[in-house]
Amino acid sequence: MTALLETRGVWQRFGGLVANSDVSITVGRGEIVGLIGPNGAGKSTLFNLIAGVLPPTQGSILFDGEDVTSLPAAERCQRGVGRTFQVVKSFESMSVIDNVIVGALLRNTVMREARRKAHEVLEFTGLAARADVLASDLVPAEKRRLEVARALATEPKLLLLDEVLTGLTPTEAQTGVALVRKVRDAGITVLMVEHVMEIVMPLVDRAIVLDLGKVLVEGKPADVVRDPKVIKAYLGD
Ligand code: ADP
Ligand code: MG
Repeated sequence: MTALLETRGVWQRFGGLVANSDVSITVGRGEIVGLIGPNGAGKSTLFNLIAGVLPPTQGSILFDGEDVTSLPAAERCQRGVGRTFQVVKSFESMSVIDNVIVGALLRNTVMREARRKAHEVLEFTGLAARADVLASDLVPAEKRRLEVARALATEPKLLLLDEVLTGLTPTEAQTGVALVRKVRDAGITVLMVEHVMEIVMPLVDRAIVLDLGKVLVEGKPADVVRDPKVIKAYLGD
């Protein structure tokens, strides 16, 4: 069976800066894959390329058996690429349920159906009791969960999570970890960027380390954390 996601020799240049350099990764169906690496390694850029926010300078992106490199973000979302965004300011003045309906409407333009989906997702993410609260009144951990809920409302096959566990208390982070497992158990493949190794390593099936825009190492989490190249990238210069 083909991988759900494959990037082939992807490059992203911003003027003279090379943010992604010949990045080839695969994510299999049903996997939780961790994308890690120091600040500035190019993780968010790679997410933008996968989601279609940016066209790669070079290389191609295959999703669900098709080349999606030239498809815009909205079309990739339709095909099942879901991602978290930082909570946009204008959404702060909307209720939790309306935020999630915005996500659901990307998939289903019938309002009644979108509302039903949004309620289902709020139950799934443990936010049902907060449905009518303004997004601005949520505590930070709930805002992160709302980002995940909004992405889930688009009914993704692949969920891209960019640092949704960063900055949480250990207890909140464990709640987040449980939610990621639940997402995978619901049949959704997960590619997640996370900084906190202690949290992400026990959760993922496979880890891919980016450093200076390149894939440095990939493999089982236990092997990756012991790899001298990884230790040097995190601790060295
Ligand atoms: P990470 O998410 O791993 O911290 P990023 O992908 O955000 O790294 O950034 C990789 C590099 O690309 C950084 O040096 C960053 O400053 C640069 N970069 C990211 N986005 C842009 C952009 N839109 N324009 C110019 N440089 C960018
Ligand atoms: Mg980033």
